[in-house]
Amino acid sequence: MKPIYDQYNRLHDYVRISVTDRCPLRCVYCMPEGGLPFFPDDRVLSQDDIVQMVKNFVDMGITKVRFTGGEPLVRSDFVDIIQRVSNIDGVTDISATTNGLLLARKGKALKDAGLQRVNISLDTFDADKYKKITRGGRIQDVLDGIAAAGDLGLFVKLNVVVMKNQNDNEIIDFLNYTRDHNVNIRFIEFMPIGNQHDEWEQSYYNLDRVFDICKKNGIEYEHINLRGNGPSENYQIKGAKGSFGVIHPVSNKFCENCSRLRITADGYVKACLYWDEELYVRDAIYDPKKFRAIIQKALDNKPLNHEMALDNADNIINKAPTWRHMSQIGG
Ligand code: SAM
Ligand code: SF4
Repeated sequence: MKPIYDQYNRLHDYVRISVTDRCPLRCVYCMPEGGLPFFPDDRVLSQDDIVQMVKNFVDMGITKVRFTGGEPLVRSDFVDIIQRVSNIDGVTDISATTNGLLLARKGKALKDAGLQRVNISLDTFDADKYKKITRGGRIQDVLDGIAAAGDLGLFVKLNVVVMKNQNDNEIIDFLNYTRDHNVNIRFIEFMPIGNQHDEWEQSYYNLDRVFDICKKNGIEYEHINLRGNGPSENYQIKGAKGSFGVIHPVSNKFCENCSRLRITADGYVKACLYWDEELYVRDAIYDPKKFRAIIQKALDNKPLNHEMALDNADNIINKAPTWRHMSQIGG
């Protein structure tokens, strides 16, 4: 096993693998209203491809694997993927990011197969607003999924993308939710991914304000260390069962500690979520040496940071942002 570093000497020990670009929802920050043309089946990584790829990654010192999408649970062989990946020596952490709609139905099989942690997306507690943000989702399905995941003993985080004038007024409700629920709420800044700059400019909400909201409401919290691989800073309200984290890639870049690689469902490696640069790696999956060389090349070109904030236009590196929407990367 030989660990892998990028050109800035950042160790990479975490991979996010997207297993599909398909999803029944059309969340406003993720996909256009009319949807996107999905990748044809033969362009999507097969189960064997994914398993072999994880084996290759373990040889590069990668120990943590997160599955994402699109919606990973729509993939009919997802339980088998988890089962086979959990049997690979060296994989210490297996998690998934999901909209939660199918968790009540599939959670037990996934847990039994080796899934340890889930990040479930829920941006509001209001059924109508949920329908609006996801363009059609039924909130009860997610709430059932969250309850099922908790009952199964999966470690649960809730991903909350905060948008101005849409759900920013619920930050306080999510904070209070952590008092009685053993979950970690991850407030996430809306990122300008996928040619959505107009929507982004209208709805971007700077998450530094979470701390102002705490102060205004007399909420006392303390910094905590939490299990997980994410870039969130975590806090706990005094006496609360759960905790909250803030992921603010736009207002407060955390690129200096970036340890992650992303694999898209159509077989490309993306070293940075934001930039256009990606390399096709599917062809090399069954040739571990070649596979490593491609991953290393991606890391040799990995930029020091993204440039999501328009007010930093002066610093823009001479590269283009990705053409992909978030559902075609995985988040
Ligand atoms: N379908 C799954 C889900 O919704 O959790 C997994 C895929 S989704 C692309 C992964 C994460 O990215 C979700 O938590 C979602 O809220 C987040 N996301 C999507 N678009 C985003 C954006 N423009 N800015 C910030 N987060 C975004
Ligand atoms: Fe689907 Fe997840 Fe994107 Fe929403 S955020 S449209 S659930 S992939």
